[in-house]
Amino acid sequence: MKAAVLSGIENLEIKDVDRPACNSGEVLIRLEACAICKTDTKMFHTGHRDLKLPRILGHELAGTIIEVGKGVHKFKEGERVQVAPGLPCGSCPFCIGGVPNMCDNMSIIGFHHDGGFAEHVLVPANGVQNGCINKIPDSLPFEEASLAEPLACCINAQELCQIKPGDVVVIIGAGPIGHLHLQLAPIFGASEVMLIENSPERIAFSKKAAVDCLIDSTKVDPVEAVKERTDGIGADVVIPACSAPEVPVQGIEMLKKRGRIVFFSGLPHGYKNISIDHNLIHYNELQIFGAYGCTSEQNRKAVKTLAMRKIAVEYLITHHVSLDELIKGFELVDSHKAMEVVVTSF
Ligand SMILES: [Zn+2]
Ligand SMILES: [Zn+2]
Repeated sequence: MKAAVLSGIENLEIKDVDRPACNSGEVLIRLEACAICKTDTKMFHTGHRDLKLPRILGHELAGTIIEVGKGVHKFKEGERVQVAPGLPCGSCPFCIGGVPNMCDNMSIIGFHHDGGFAEHVLVPANGVQNGCINKIPDSLPFEEASLAEPLACCINAQELCQIKPGDVVVIIGAGPIGHLHLQLAPIFGASEVMLIENSPERIAFSKKAAVDCLIDSTKVDPVEAVKERTDGIGADVVIPACSAPEVPVQGIEMLKKRGRIVFFSGLPHGYKNISIDHNLIHYNELQIFGAYGCTSEQNRKAVKTLAMRKIAVEYLITHHVSLDELIKGFELVDSHKAMEVVVTSF
């Protein structure tokens, strides 16, 4: 089968590799859509903590089942599915405790196992057993279903920071993830959502998408702008949806007393520490959450939310590329000229 194999930093080749054998308990899927995540381009340029090379990347995927291994009764050939890429072990204290995305033995499709930038992808037996394959209705196009995974990561973050009815939520970063958070927050009950951005391309895109409250942080101080719009009180919840290291610091400064911030994005390669005001957290009883990845249950919720058309993703898919054009797709994702770029022909 044709596959994009990453063998080293910035060493990616489209080549012919053996189609994975579908053994007992496993499910083989023919790819129909695989979205390019910012994490894919990060792995391409600088590697990743969880990446084992050589690897076929791609973890935001949807396709058709073409083979099921012995003992698999829940699925059959021809079914349209989305895959939650994080495969939990199902038996460590975190899996048993209901937070499988924190599994001690987690392995991830596109990181530890070959992923979706190929004609076929194999879902290992622990993924099949632990609910990582979600059937999708005929009404949901594959390319939209491929965005269930990033939406599931947003659901994870918003569940963690407990958005409640009436909350004012600020999203920093108007990329595709920012736009998913923007649409998701009102479902959790947010009464007002503000979107902060500094890139001219993304500001223009967001204006075209008729975002209600868009703050251009090249023109105004974002902390003051949020304070001003909240009568000096600040935001209930801030979600940084970009990796700029100054953003979490600003986010903390724009919180209301008892406000919550969720560190959704990792910092860029080479950055580790940020400087935050300890006393601001102490006196104002601020709460800081971390969020990484998502559970298979959150993927199921994301698929349902997309299928019910509660969140629009069609307008976010600005580019389609073929597998042969994957590098071009990575460049588009890095450039801010694109929002979501989805590989749709393999
Ligand atoms: Zn991703
Ligand atoms: Zn586990």
